[in-house]
Amino acid sequence: MSQFFGSLGRGFRGKKPEKTKPSPLPSASGNSGNGGASGNGGNGGGGYNPPSGNLMPGSPSGQRITQKPLFLCKPFVTSQLVKGSFSTIVVLPRYVDQGEWLALNLFEFFDMLNKFYGVVQEFCTPQACPSMSAGPGLDYSWLDANKKPLRLPATTYIEYVLQWISNRINDESIFPTKANPSTTTAVNAPSSSVSSSPAGAAGTAGQTWIGKEGGFPPNFYVTCKAIYKQMFRVFAHIYHTHFAKIVHMSLEAHFNSFFAHFIHFARAFELLERRDIEPLRPLIDSFEEQGLFKDNERSREQ
Ligand SMILES: [Zn+2]
Repeated sequence: MSQFFGSLGRGFRGKKPEKTKPSPLPSASGNSGNGGASGNGGNGGGGYNPPSGNLMPGSPSGQRITQKPLFLCKPFVTSQLVKGSFSTIVVLPRYVDQGEWLALNLFEFFDMLNKFYGVVQEFCTPQACPSMSAGPGLDYSWLDANKKPLRLPATTYIEYVLQWISNRINDESIFPTKANPSTTTAVNAPSSSVSSSPAGAAGTAGQTWIGKEGGFPPNFYVTCKAIYKQMFRVFAHIYHTHFAKIVHMSLEAHFNSFFAHFIHFARAFELLERRDIEPLRPLIDSFEEQGLFKDNERSREQ
């Protein structure tokens, strides 16, 4: 028996890519998420990589797909700190540069997500989570420098993601902390950046892009999307794998509200592709039904 566990442990340890450098992935694929932005599907930090054989409900080793995950069960699915819509805290405030608004919120979402992950981190071990799973048959792979997918234990994957995001948001060339001298004096008309479609604002013609007035670089929005996509995966892993711990700590209302805020923000600024949210779509649909994403009149007036 002990021999069995011993070898099991060794097996996992053997696989744990302690030495793999975190650097390549999302940066190489800062495009990563944005398979979305450019429309070139699946690749980049990519979609799921369903392990073969695990998808069929009937497969002996596969988990039962029909079983409802805990986070979709009542009362948890309706547990919220806030009743009602998040619009008022999502919509771009009047006269605020959209880049500033994205940067600020991204930073806060990241900070909070970090803390939530910290809460379950001790349970997210290579033994408990040998892959970055977001539900039965759905595993995210990390891309190495050559875009070769790597199966990493969730804890390693998330550690890489958090580090990668941290590097991005602390990078002055993407998230400048100094005001852009040429524009600080001008108050930007809200309509200029708000009404333009985020999707079209990648800075193609060198004309304008989201955050330009705030001193953000042309790739700012694309980077935001890549960061958002990776953050979503951390949510997906926690929901699918560690939600019971969240419930044990009576944090489900906080976590649901946090996630609803995160999703509402993503929808408002088109930060997540439709296919990216698949692992938590039923939850998002439920939030929708609960009215958490409703536009309210006040928040729409500009
Ligand atoms: Zn885990």
